[in-house]
Amino acid sequence: MSSALQYPFTEPPASGHRIQVAPGVHWLHFPLPFSLDHINLWLLEDGDDWTLVDTGFGSRATRELWRAAFDSALDGRPIRRILVTHYHPDHIGQAAWLAGHFQAPVWMTEGEWALTHRLQTASDEAVAEGFRHLFGRHGLGGDALDTLAGRGNSYRKVMPELPPAPEIIAEGDAVSINGDTWRVHIGRGHAPEHACLYRERDRLLISGDQVLPTISSNLTVRAHEPDDDPVTDFVDSLRALRAALPRDTLVLPAHGLPFRGLHERIDDLCAHHDEQLDAARDACAERPLTAFDLLPVLFKRELDSRQLMFAMGESIAHLNCLHALGRVRREERDGRLYHIAV
Ligand SMILES: [Zn+2]
Repeated sequence: MSSALQYPFTEPPASGHRIQVAPGVHWLHFPLPFSLDHINLWLLEDGDDWTLVDTGFGSRATRELWRAAFDSALDGRPIRRILVTHYHPDHIGQAAWLAGHFQAPVWMTEGEWALTHRLQTASDEAVAEGFRHLFGRHGLGGDALDTLAGRGNSYRKVMPELPPAPEIIAEGDAVSINGDTWRVHIGRGHAPEHACLYRERDRLLISGDQVLPTISSNLTVRAHEPDDDPVTDFVDSLRALRAALPRDTLVLPAHGLPFRGLHERIDDLCAHHDEQLDAARDACAERPLTAFDLLPVLFKRELDSRQLMFAMGESIAHLNCLHALGRVRREERDGRLYHIAV
């Protein structure tokens, strides 16, 4: 993927510090314990207080960093409102604790709240059964499936507490922050109803994980919606965002550096998924394949157990899309779904 993106900031803020990226908009940078090793959070001046966008991973280590940041990055000023872009634990993980600490309401979309609630409250047995059913049907077996199923509800481990019922935001809503209007744009595919926030007066987009500068957001299929088509959802909602927002928008992503080049980046992301769909379809023309068989076609690197979970979800997603488009057909053999190019 080549794209002509411009990065106005070369370095993220140091831990416990903030960088102002636009009037009243500040950048915080928190570590993550994965190969994707950080998340950007956004602190918006709101009267004498702050509105916070996303909260960091639901770990003890992140909580300690937050405690240290209260007097440094936050200048001792309280958080009066917490906006959460989507259900992933690096975004919502500290929402309950911060909401309790500051007596601040959480704002998020209905779709993200529903999935957060569903995942956080699922029993270990139900999660294991979901993995066995969905991934087993798509060709994963043996130790790899046992390991994944054996982890039980891994979401709850990094999202230990549900925040209080949120204020609901939805597509097109105007959120007033410090006298400015931030418009809610909904992204789909990476998450069911991912909130992006756009400030029109200086063309600023807090994009969460919907548009990232250097990696493509994971698209996954979940056991409770086995025929979901997040690839189509993702591409369609990106095209809608491209049509709605100007080319010189400054994008504030959750991972990577702020950038300009929204239209180019969306074109690259859509092209990437077209290429993955073509590669998957071509592979299914050679011989019937399960989603597991397809992994080396879609992913060129070694996958650890956590990456295997994301990769299986993404492989199923691309096959569901091809199936919905009529580009592959399915045959069930011995309880496994094989895909054959049409
Ligand atoms: Zn995410």
